[in-house]
Amino acid sequence: MAVLEVLKYPNEFLRRAAAPVTSFDDALRTLIVDMAETMAAEDGIGLAATQVGVGLQLLLVHPVAFLGDDARDEPTRVFINPEIVSESAEKITAEEGCLSFPEVFIPVTRPARVRIRALDAQGQPFEVEGEGLGARALLHEIDHLRGVVMVDHVSFLQRQRALKKHEKVQAAETAARRRQASRA
Ligand SMILES: [Zn+2]
Repeated sequence: MAVLEVLKYPNEFLRRAAAPVTSFDDALRTLIVDMAETMAAEDGIGLAATQVGVGLQLLLVHPVAFLGDDARDEPTRVFINPEIVSESAEKITAEEGCLSFPEVFIPVTRPARVRIRALDAQGQPFEVEGEGLGARALLHEIDHLRGVVMVDHVSFLQRQRALKKHEKVQAAETAARRRQASRA
């Protein structure tokens, strides 16, 4: 098992559209385990393969997004080659975060409910309905597989503000890493 590096905006790879998964082999299983480990290490509720530099239509969502805090110990949900079957007309605006924009939160408007068709880790098809945070997490991660990130959903001003904060956080991160390197 390994914790993978999560690519930060504006890494070019985050803008690539991912290709469908075609082989359900050991390499895919290893990737899923590593992504689950990475999501746990980063305390995220969702992670798309695009974010760890793999161009495959694979995403993970933490079960708490669907079932609340009681589901903390349940296995991570795996969605391969996900398709949106339907979205509710009703929309909800809520604060959203992203492991590719650590510490940045912006209000994003998304459908309140969504129905997804996908394959599981064994390649078996299934459908699931997400509501509230579940819908938001699924739609956010599906966006990643299409090369779309959360700041694409907000107004010019909100985007500017979010990117300014992101640059500040990234600069502090780089400075901290440099201090650590000079100590070593
Ligand atoms: Zn994200």
